[in-house]
Amino acid sequence: MNIILLGPPGAGKGTQAARLVAERGMVQLSTGDMLRAAVKAGTPTGLKAKAVMESGALVSDEIVSGIIGEALDALSAGQGVIFDGYPRTAAQAESLETLLSDRARKLDHVIELVVDEDALVERIVGRFTCANCGAGYHDTFNRPKVDGVCDSCGGTEFKRRADDNEETVRTRMAEYRAKTAPILPIYDARGIVQRVDGMAPIAEVTDAIEAILDGKSA
Ligand code: AMP
Repeated sequence: MNIILLGPPGAGKGTQAARLVAERGMVQLSTGDMLRAAVKAGTPTGLKAKAVMESGALVSDEIVSGIIGEALDALSAGQGVIFDGYPRTAAQAESLETLLSDRARKLDHVIELVVDEDALVERIVGRFTCANCGAGYHDTFNRPKVDGVCDSCGGTEFKRRADDNEETVRTRMAEYRAKTAPILPIYDARGIVQRVDGMAPIAEVTDAIEAILDGKSA
């Protein structure tokens, strides 16, 4: 099964993808994570992407479709994929069709996380992760049980994304509205879009997504 999680920055795509990976053994392909890793490693792709990402604009379609193709090639045929943060433009949606059909895969569901945009800035600027295991936290909504200690691994180092500041978030939202939201009608026309309330508690959102994957929800 291959699915796309769609929604504006802060909608919970990464959080939900991580839960589906843990519960269903699917593979999360997050272009944002892959680009951040490239920036950290100082690869040629990372060097090209760094300033663009810091501004909140989109990295070129060629770069992201290239890394998705490579990531798909590294998987075995039976592994289900969750696309998180890709595609983000009509050109990427077109590339994805070819990337999938070349590998005898098809898209089963596009799940849109529907959120109240006013809440997103607060969600994003407060979020941080454990530097060791990647567990996600939030200053207001989801603090570690013991301040400064990761619930999952006991790590004491945390990090915040360079682009999770209010100014960059506004640009990322504008990019979503201008370039990503318009790809939904393409998938809608194929009847594969399902909408989930992304403002519900995290576990409820996961349940709603799983019901869709299990064919228990229209
Ligand atoms: P994300 O982690 O999905 O919020 O992505 C962080 C940043 O990486 C975005 O603001 C873009 O600069 C870049 N990025 C991630 N995925 C894509 C994509 N599919 N197309 C273009 N740029 C992307």
